[in-house]
Amino acid sequence: MKKTSLRASIENPGIAQWLREHEETIVASWLRALEQVDLGLAEEPTTQEAEYGQLKGFFCAIVATVETANSSDLDSSVQDLVRARMEQGDTVETIAQMVDELKRGIWRMALDLLPSGQALETVAALEPVFVLSAAQLVWLAERSAGHQLQEELERTRRILAKMDRTRSDFISIATHELKTPLALIQGYAAILSQELAEQKQYDNLVQGLANGVRRLNALIEDMIDVGQIDSNMLSLSLEPASLYEIARMVIRDLEQELKDRSLNIQVYSFPQEVEVIYLDAKRMYQVLSNLIGNAIKYTPDNGSITLDSRVLRDPEPDRRFLEISIADTGIGIAPDDLPLIFKKFYRVGEIDLHSTSKTHFKGGGPGLGLVIAKGLVEAHGGRIWAESPGYDERNFPGSTFHIMLPIYTELPESPLKHLLGLDDEHQRWRF
Ligand code: ADP
Repeated sequence: MKKTSLRASIENPGIAQWLREHEETIVASWLRALEQVDLGLAEEPTTQEAEYGQLKGFFCAIVATVETANSSDLDSSVQDLVRARMEQGDTVETIAQMVDELKRGIWRMALDLLPSGQALETVAALEPVFVLSAAQLVWLAERSAGHQLQEELERTRRILAKMDRTRSDFISIATHELKTPLALIQGYAAILSQELAEQKQYDNLVQGLANGVRRLNALIEDMIDVGQIDSNMLSLSLEPASLYEIARMVIRDLEQELKDRSLNIQVYSFPQEVEVIYLDAKRMYQVLSNLIGNAIKYTPDNGSITLDSRVLRDPEPDRRFLEISIADTGIGIAPDDLPLIFKKFYRVGEIDLHSTSKTHFKGGGPGLGLVIAKGLVEAHGGRIWAESPGYDERNFPGSTFHIMLPIYTELPESPLKHLLGLDDEHQRWRF
């Protein structure tokens, strides 16, 4: 068989024979050297025996490699050594140091016992074998670092998922617990308002109480929705409806707020072919109300809001989508914030600077509106996203929110999977 030059420089049965003859002495002096650098065997006799076996096994693998130039024994022996020593808490560096002690011990013995020519030949034959074992060690070290990193990542992912579940559980428990006393307050407030109907001096107090209860109720409803979206428990009730009419209804309900802020809103008619489509009217009202409400909140007085729509066709397979865009002339959104605004409780900027009213300029909110809008649109098999040239409170570059919904002119029989690139986890159809 033709030998490679490396193989030729390793394979040396004569030296292997010499090593084997001195096995006891070499291993014993290796152990002594390890003691001196504090890398000796464990105290406990059974562990000591196992460790001794591993070290001896490693030495034998070195000898076998010198003899046959086949490093497979060496590879598995390095692996065994690394696994066993790492379990004891040793690092790859200390294992490399142990191997180095063996090499030095053999060299010393060769120089002491052999004529100088033979000693040099022995050193030369052993060097590539130790280089091979060092390479194997480096490879194992890299693999174990990668492995550790992978395990660490997996552990962090599990902790995060658990935290997210705990948070969702907390939200759902807290909201249900809050609902009961709130219903009581609401009932007493209604009685109070009847009792005090004649006494005008209490009007403001009663009105304030009713407003507070309404806002708390809305917050709890939002939290319940987020809990349902998080746990994939959201159910849709699909029926034929006109999204254009729903948009007009939202605008009618926000008329006072638009007037208070002197905002102009323009709604272009929707394409004829989407006059009536299957959707959950109540949920789509909620989506549009959140988006138009935000456009009001983040646009300064005298600004404008535009609602437009178009139909998009996907010829292969034949599908149609309705895209609705809500553009405003408001403060805009920084590119870094664009992917984050759809996350739970995310609000841009300093919360303390937000005003408290929901429809005042930059009015406060819990940061759930867009999460809910996203969950509801995705439950319809659609997509939602935002675009903005950036955040600027002087020049007001504005933002545009887009919704893309699949068009169903009849009740879909089964959930349409991967409709807009959503995976199964995001499919939340229930009929
Ligand atoms: P919030 O209750 O704070 O309004 P949302 O989930 O509705 O929560 O919105 C999250 C954040 O996204 C807001 O705090 C705001 O910073 C930003 N945002 C939403 N809509 C707009 C918009 N039309 N213009 C500028 N920023 C917006």
